[in-house]
Amino acid sequence: MTKKQMVILGAGYGGLRTLKKLQKMKPNADLILIDKNNYHCETTSLHEVAAGTADSDEICYSLNLVIDRKQTTFIQGTVQYVDKEARRVFLRDHEPVAYDYLLVGLGFEPEYFGIKGMDRYGLSIADIPSVTKIKKHIENEFKKWKDDHRQEHLVVAVGGAGFTSFEFLGELTQRIPKLITKFQVDSSSVRIQCIEPTPRALPMFNRKLAEYGAHKLSESGVEFVIGRVSGIDAGQIYYRSGDQVKTLQAGTFVWTGGVSGSSVVRASGFAQRRGRVAVNDDLSVPGHPEILIIGDCSAVINPEDGRPYPTTAQIAMQQADCAAYNLNAMLEDAPTKPFVFKFMGTVCSLGRNDAVGEIMGRKLKGRPASIMKKVIENRSLAKIGGVETMMKKGRFSLNK
Ligand code: FAD
Repeated sequence: MTKKQMVILGAGYGGLRTLKKLQKMKPNADLILIDKNNYHCETTSLHEVAAGTADSDEICYSLNLVIDRKQTTFIQGTVQYVDKEARRVFLRDHEPVAYDYLLVGLGFEPEYFGIKGMDRYGLSIADIPSVTKIKKHIENEFKKWKDDHRQEHLVVAVGGAGFTSFEFLGELTQRIPKLITKFQVDSSSVRIQCIEPTPRALPMFNRKLAEYGAHKLSESGVEFVIGRVSGIDAGQIYYRSGDQVKTLQAGTFVWTGGVSGSSVVRASGFAQRRGRVAVNDDLSVPGHPEILIIGDCSAVINPEDGRPYPTTAQIAMQQADCAAYNLNAMLEDAPTKPFVFKFMGTVCSLGRNDAVGEIMGRKLKGRPASIMKKVIENRSLAKIGGVETMMKKGRFSLNK
């Protein structure tokens, strides 16, 4: 009898952790992993590459470190859509891949909410190519200043004042002094501006922690502007402030105002909202028990407030453990188990040695929060990449 095919889409926090768990379980199935890249990216550190405080190879590692070739076939390819009825995955420049069981873990894409010009002029923190573009763009703008001394070249604006925005701004405030020296620009002309519709930043934290974060960034030179971004063109951002439309000149505009689940989810005809599928308790898709969706493409409802949990690496990795169990259970005709999320806390960095966060109900800020952040990052690396990868990355130090 031919073996069943278990196909995993995406080698991110959810997909790769699921594969790692399944490989340990040694199911009687052919495992197939599909990703557009042959490396795993620690997405939670992308803002560092965007700001230029880390190199891309510091936050990526080869999938070879996790894949057991005796059990798993890796296909490097870009998924276009899933044909749920034919049970096939369609890829760009590759023949379709058949599955008996499918796990979708394709992560997020930036959401522009139809804001004019955003897809053309806005930059976003989404993957290695997009953050490399941000780093180069900022450097190019600083270089251009030398030719024409136009101040907007030295202005970096960030749309949104949530988690990703603050983490990026924290790194940027540390990078800017180095850029000033490197490109010999007029330091008094350099500005970092953050535009957000409400005065309340970091909504996932309590007011005191959020205010601490905003205060620390202000101290490092970030200016906060209250306004709703309504459009962008080359060098100019339009935003609504009350009844007025105002403009802001900036050579660089980084959008952190929203994300949605992978566009593959929409293209495959799943019932979804902003690329996220409301999955059953056991993470399967309503009407398709053979398909599980986890991570940023899934929506799991928090029973306490009836709203979907925020998308995080933390929930993706916990879902992965449940998904691996359930895929194996399906194969063995055993009952699946429900996914239960255990919130462990969250920490938002504000540069290398500062952060705010909440861990196991304890509020943290400053250096202790920053140390906690590094502990969490290293724990994720160990849980997916394993100890060998940690050693290769030299991540036993807290000053990675
Ligand atoms: P991902 O880890 O994003 O993986 C998706 C995978 O799918 C990738 O390997 C990608 O290459 C692949 N892929 C995508 N599209 C295709 C395609 N069409 N074909 C083939 N392959 C494809 N969460 C936290 O818990 N804590 C944090 O501190 C934190 N900080 C963050 C900081 C930043 C700057 C950002 C951007 C996010 C942060 N998050 C954090 C959120 C977290 O990164 C995501 O929730 C998490 O990455 C989701 O995991 P995932 O498995 O769904 O997808």
